[in-house]
Amino acid sequence: MTSLPMSKVSLYWLRRDLRLEDNHALQQALASGRPVQCVFVFDSNILDTLSPADRRIGFIWQSLQEVQTSLRAAGGDLWCATGPAQDIIPRLAAQLDAEAVYVNEDYEPYARQRDQVVAQTLATMGKSLLSYKDQVIFARDELLTSSGKPFTVFTPYCNAWLKRLSPQHSQSLTMPSLAGRLRPPAGTPAMPDLAELGFAQAEPCLLTPGASGAQERFADFCQQRIQRYHQQRDYPGVKGVSYLSTHLRFGTISIRQLVQFASFDGGEGAMCWLKELIWREFYQQLLWHFPNIAAHSFKPQYRDLPFPNRQDWLESWQKGLSGYPLIDAAMRQLNQTGYMHNRLRMIAASFLVKDLLIDWRLGERYFAEKLLDFDLASNNGGWQWAASTGCDAQPYFRIFNPVTQSQKFDPDGRFIRRYVPELAALSDQAIHAPWQAKALPEGFVLGRDYPRPIVDHAEQRQLALALFGKQ
Ligand code: FAD
Repeated sequence: MTSLPMSKVSLYWLRRDLRLEDNHALQQALASGRPVQCVFVFDSNILDTLSPADRRIGFIWQSLQEVQTSLRAAGGDLWCATGPAQDIIPRLAAQLDAEAVYVNEDYEPYARQRDQVVAQTLATMGKSLLSYKDQVIFARDELLTSSGKPFTVFTPYCNAWLKRLSPQHSQSLTMPSLAGRLRPPAGTPAMPDLAELGFAQAEPCLLTPGASGAQERFADFCQQRIQRYHQQRDYPGVKGVSYLSTHLRFGTISIRQLVQFASFDGGEGAMCWLKELIWREFYQQLLWHFPNIAAHSFKPQYRDLPFPNRQDWLESWQKGLSGYPLIDAAMRQLNQTGYMHNRLRMIAASFLVKDLLIDWRLGERYFAEKLLDFDLASNNGGWQWAASTGCDAQPYFRIFNPVTQSQKFDPDGRFIRRYVPELAALSDQAIHAPWQAKALPEGFVLGRDYPRPIVDHAEQRQLALALFGKQ
């Protein structure tokens, strides 16, 4: 990089990269030779759209506290501000006389537009926004088909991704020491607490936030489960997956570290897991190339499907009161913890669209409100996959049967019992479809203690086939 004239500070602006290790933009800011000031903006353009109970703000807030503690230990501090980021960052750059603002790239449509405004404003001030790839191994159009087009099918994308991967791509970055390189804390405003930001105190979270929480979780996965990942990943009642999605979303762990580990391990479980990390990048590059999928079906023929969108059915689905035990357990897991197992996301999404005939965008929006790991690209990709509207999606005529899926992936009802305790006493056979059971426990009344199914799967399946088949 060209050397910059000396000025008072380099500003490193944290966004979805809440860690100090293996961090590309921070590494470059530290290498600038100027004292570094780290800043986080609670962006009111985002915060104003969220409910006061949104769990993600608590996760971010606690992760930032860890960042702040580390910065203080190294003689600096974290500068936190609240308001529109596109105004605050240039103002702060002027106030601290920063020559450049260092960021890791964020590929979501809002972030792209915001960063463009910030870059333009900084340019008018004779300052620059310097952006670095950090969130993914391959970004934007680094991987294209042989005819130079974006990939729209996963398998060739995955093959091209694996072929291109070299040890340099996944090598963790060597970070210069923070000590002596940070701007001293004089005048740094105190971090606002959650109430000042308008959010409820963080509920105890199943995940430990911050980079230390991420490393703990990764170590647990590597030591205990990665070898069996390919065999266990589809069973929500078993602790088989990594539970790293929220850490990946907020950058409390580096993608390079995960890819390096998985490709070095090379075992069946690790390679299957690596493929999931590649799905994440597949969806990110799709959103980059086709930003209109954030609002529309990828497949044009499904853009105006006349979904009946029954509000009462939508609410039953949201509350986990559909009468289909595995769907209800999945939705209650989401409501109670902010997480839902991948197999259940697929089944619950399919059920909303193809059993309840509700527009996938309403389900996508509900997940976006509730998921701690909400990521626009992966959520949109997952919903469009399940709804058959996406580029490399489940064909419309393949419709999950919520009962057989339950029998297959939660055979002993362990997961259902955890989240639908009113069904705990039902037998392993009856628990998947209580309305079909020959015998129910004494005193248990279907329709009173647990709802009857709100729809008949076989009938709704025919309606879905007709709805999609007409297009
Ligand atoms: P693991 O199985 O351990 O996988 C490791 C990582 O790979 C995940 O953390 C995630 O970053 C990535 N990954 C795994 N599966 C997928 C996938 N199918 N698509 C993209 N990336 C994947 N994932 C999100 O991170 N945020 C979302 O908002 C989101 N919404 C989804 C909505 C639907 C309808 C569906 C079907 C899937 C969605 N996913 C989403 C993908 C997937 O369900 C989660 O990433 C996964 O369940 C997270 O658990 P984990 O970290 O234990 O995953």
